Amino acid sequence: MKIEKAIRQKRFRVKPGFRIDLMLETSDARRCTLILEDASLTGISAIADNDPLVIGLEPGSIVPDAKLVWQDGEAGLGRIVVRRVMEKGGEFSVAFTTIDSKIALGGWLSRYFDELETGEQSAFDFELGSQKFNLAHFVESEFFHPDLFERCRQYKFLLKDLSSQGLFQYYSTKHSQSGSRVVCKTPRDKTAREYLNFASYDYLGYSVHEDVKKAAKNAIDAFGLSSNGSLVLGGKNSLHEILEQKIAERFGRDDALVFSNGYSTNVGAISAIAKPNDLIVADNYSHASLHDGFAASMAKTRLFRHNNNDHLKSILESNRSTHNGCLIVTEGFFSMEGTAPDLAGIVKIKEKYNSRLFLDECHSFGIVGPNGLGVAEREGILNSVDMYMATFSKSLGSGAGGFVTASKDVVEWLRYFARAGMFSAALPPAVAGAAIKVLDLLETGRDRREKLQHNIKRMRKGIKELGFESVGDPECPIIPVLVGSEDVLSKMNEVLTKRNIFVNCILYPAVPLGAARFRFSMTVHHSDSDIDLALRALEEALDKSKK
Ligand code: PMP
Repeated sequence: MKIEKAIRQKRFRVKPGFRIDLMLETSDARRCTLILEDASLTGISAIADNDPLVIGLEPGSIVPDAKLVWQDGEAGLGRIVVRRVMEKGGEFSVAFTTIDSKIALGGWLSRYFDELETGEQSAFDFELGSQKFNLAHFVESEFFHPDLFERCRQYKFLLKDLSSQGLFQYYSTKHSQSGSRVVCKTPRDKTAREYLNFASYDYLGYSVHEDVKKAAKNAIDAFGLSSNGSLVLGGKNSLHEILEQKIAERFGRDDALVFSNGYSTNVGAISAIAKPNDLIVADNYSHASLHDGFAASMAKTRLFRHNNNDHLKSILESNRSTHNGCLIVTEGFFSMEGTAPDLAGIVKIKEKYNSRLFLDECHSFGIVGPNGLGVAEREGILNSVDMYMATFSKSLGSGAGGFVTASKDVVEWLRYFARAGMFSAALPPAVAGAAIKVLDLLETGRDRREKLQHNIKRMRKGIKELGFESVGDPECPIIPVLVGSEDVLSKMNEVLTKRNIFVNCILYPAVPLGAARFRFSMTVHHSDSDIDLALRALEEALDKSKK
């Protein structure tokens, strides 16, 4: 149940001794005076001092455009349905509910309601709990309360509830790491201890490569820790220039632009290129940073079902002709599913519908393709990708940073109009220095890519043998282990934690409800025996979950 629905069902009575006089007014000037008795988020009960039936407010009728008027204000209600008109000793008891909008209980009305004013109980206190609510409700719900911080107070209740059941699995703290081992404190631990790490993006192990660390240190020696400005205003140094040139060369493009992280690359690039009269058609499993880019662009955004090119086509068929430009957005490897799209199919569609293709290869750059340039290279369509982006924080292991490579015109446009780049400090020198080094190492990094693929294959095979559904691209370093129920996942994770396996638990809203999963991230740090240990722990967890 949504928080809003629960609130909607709760009725708040007017405090004894208080009287709220309202006038219900319709767009065709019918009026009815009311004394408010109680209200919910979508309904009002009141006493009318004239007969509502006389002005046509019969039970069941829908009033097209109503508003409530009081002494010093008014509130539009949109359409309302009259639910009850009953005579009681010369007075008329009336009830109606709204269809289009909600009644702002937390606003002007709150001071008249007992429970809303005590501070002990608020409109949101009741029924909160992890059986009915989860973090997503707090993301999706509107809070009708005059104090902005009320939502934070309510969120705390839920967090406490989730933690007490072991369902809060986030914000583990690493204390040290070496190879595949990490010393960390998870929400289940009292003190830090050693785990086998299956929650790292350092797919190729470059974040601890001696030459890469040295390149970062050299960059600090040359330029200090900070870029001390945005690229456009004094923050650009020669490392940024070298890095951008190297990326463009590697991709056979005219130019590239670096941002201070992958997130801002997506927000900046998408909102700079697509505008309100344009159309964005994106895979519905697109990363949050892409969605934030869509919102910031204010372009009309339509989502197609995950990796479903027929749906993409049908959206374009019905929307393309009524918009100016069109950007199709998808990813190389999807971060929660480990899946890859049919890119060749998407390229054909983009050509047919005169659109541009934006590709996020954050989890695939460095990993697949003859030169490690990602899924687009592997599928042989790299030159058809109009805007290619990836991060330095995953397979490049360089700390942060992201880039877009495209034609000269496009990159030049982004240099001046991608606000997330323009108005933010440039990539720190150490990150730029490290990324340059990794780009060089990638050229001869076949061994690392092969070792990673060996590990992925071994893990995937073991997971399949345990009976889990095999999901995702066989070459993707993200291996989802689908469990389904969040409770079962939590129980299984208890076993994994005991067996010193550190793995990410992915729950709603990151994935649909009932599709909870472990997300094993494979790296070159893992040995065969590490993988076998994880598989044995998974087997034990599975057995225990069935008991
Ligand atoms: N795109 C995708 C698909 C991602 O998974 C991520 C990070 N998880 C990002 C963009 C953002 O990259 P960064 O962490 O470097 O900001």
